[in-house]
Amino acid sequence: MDFMSLYRDCNLCPRSCGVNRLGRGANGREGFCRENHQLRIAYIGPHFGEEPPISGERGSGTVFLTGCSLRCAYCQNHQISKQGLGHPMDLDGLVERAMDMIETHGVHNINFVTPDHFFPHVFQCVISLREQGYSLPVVYNLSGYQSLSMLRIGAPYVDIYLTDFKYGDSGLARRLSKCRDYPKVALEALSEMVRQKGFLDVCENGNRIAKRGVLVRHLILPGEIENSIGVLTTLFLEFGAALPVSLMSQYYPALPMEDEELNRLLTPDEFERVYTHALDLGFENLFVQFPEQNKDESTHAPSFVPDFRLEKPFSPKNQNPLPKF
Ligand code: SF4
Repeated sequence: MDFMSLYRDCNLCPRSCGVNRLGRGANGREGFCRENHQLRIAYIGPHFGEEPPISGERGSGTVFLTGCSLRCAYCQNHQISKQGLGHPMDLDGLVERAMDMIETHGVHNINFVTPDHFFPHVFQCVISLREQGYSLPVVYNLSGYQSLSMLRIGAPYVDIYLTDFKYGDSGLARRLSKCRDYPKVALEALSEMVRQKGFLDVCENGNRIAKRGVLVRHLILPGEIENSIGVLTTLFLEFGAALPVSLMSQYYPALPMEDEELNRLLTPDEFERVYTHALDLGFENLFVQFPEQNKDESTHAPSFVPDFRLEKPFSPKNQNPLPKF
């Protein structure tokens, strides 16, 4: 299949903009994600801030792509998702940088962060890496708002889905991410991911480093605790208590928010209510990021919020192999 033709009449994500992103330079049109066919990359390097089975001792080999098909109002990576920070890179350059990262750092996997709007390049990159003999697991780090047809086309080029489930409340999804259909779309997408890969294998067979499967993430938003409780209930009812779930408390108002509640951090009481609900439901494979882990003790800055203007965008705390979940 000529993957690059998928940029024509673009339906790579459920926004289904239908624009032709092909063409030279600015001639390629941009859709909601604000990216044409020119691949742009914000950061390539080992990252230690993912869950322990993904980061391990040597880090997850992250590739942060510029742009995003969801563009949430509160995005913690807004520099790359909304402000376009990143450098153009062709496919050969991407493959070369990925191989260099693997050889230099011995990362446990290749982790494409928000890859869906550049799936054609990502699929081709994975094929090239495998042709060169690299067989380490491929992670798609996703928003959860995915096209079923693209998940099916991409299935041979991924091993691990590290996917968000952000909203059970369609009004909240519309207000913060301009996609009222998120709960329905994300549920169908997650079902497809589980059908393809099953649950994360570390939870089933005691491996330390994940090789395959699905891990669902949920970021708790301040003032939106009912949304989180609804998400957890839905996940439990649809997939059962064995579904691996990662509960994240790192929310930080990275941008001034119209919604006053989102201009603050999560309170301990809010976190406790959601965490207690997850325990009450009986999730057996729960990764938990406790609020006290979110600050860098030396700078008091939020340690999970990256700055992609820096050569090393992540806090020193996240440059070290800290199994904090
Ligand atoms: S990838 Fe971008 S252009 Fe394509 S459908 Fe999604 S938002 Fe629209």
